[in-house]
Amino acid sequence: MAVYLKSKAEIEIMRVADQIVAKALAAARQAAKPGVSTLELDRIAEDVIRSAGAEPAFKGYQGSGPYPFPGTLCTSINEEVVHGIPSEERILKEGDIVSIDCGAKYHGFYGDSALTVAVGKVSETARRLMRVTEESLELAIKNAVVGNRLSDIGGAIQDHAEGEGFAVVRDFVGHGIGRSLHEEPQVPHYRTHGHNERLRVGLVIAIEPMINEGTWQVDSAPDGWTQLTRDRKLSAHFEHSVAISEDGPQVLSRIS
Ligand code: MG
Ligand code: MG
Repeated sequence: MAVYLKSKAEIEIMRVADQIVAKALAAARQAAKPGVSTLELDRIAEDVIRSAGAEPAFKGYQGSGPYPFPGTLCTSINEEVVHGIPSEERILKEGDIVSIDCGAKYHGFYGDSALTVAVGKVSETARRLMRVTEESLELAIKNAVVGNRLSDIGGAIQDHAEGEGFAVVRDFVGHGIGRSLHEEPQVPHYRTHGHNERLRVGLVIAIEPMINEGTWQVDSAPDGWTQLTRDRKLSAHFEHSVAISEDGPQVLSRIS
């Protein structure tokens, strides 16, 4: 497995890319109100990214979908897990939760981060699912230290999410990030057996737990991109890009 460790100078460029992503996400979060379309959120985020001299990373991305991804954001509402396509027909309504995932490319390096937003007043279950997902990401980040292994990251997420009665999505995992949006290693959000490498200084990974209210299983929607929970219960998603350093985890996409 080819894992590309970044220099301090490269990590500083990535920090700029991630700070642009953080600003785009903050603007989209602010705009996520009842009556607003997911395409409006997409335009707001794209403006922030281009104004900062960066490019949207997802637009035109040829990943798991049947055609290039058309948006700057992935916007995934309620039972949608990830990879929802922004649309003027998808209008946010009171009580929705929407996962907003954003990537940007700056001077050859990628930033990637995501959060889930409550639209107006949401159910107690939705609030708890969002809180537990964000907490599981923070616990994972605490484990992103030299000497630990990749599986300690997934284990921290799995223990917390399952301990709260929720389930961890298996079909999509976190990833190394750098000159490519998705690099080695894969970062599962659950404990793995088998190959399990040590975390080293200069490794930069995007940790992005997708936590479901019910079953962990997912289905593809007819659009070929959007992923849905199989039982159509809620899903939440939070993501940060994290550099492993001598001084502990550096969360490049944390707003500063
Ligand atoms: Mg992302
Ligand atoms: Mg990612």
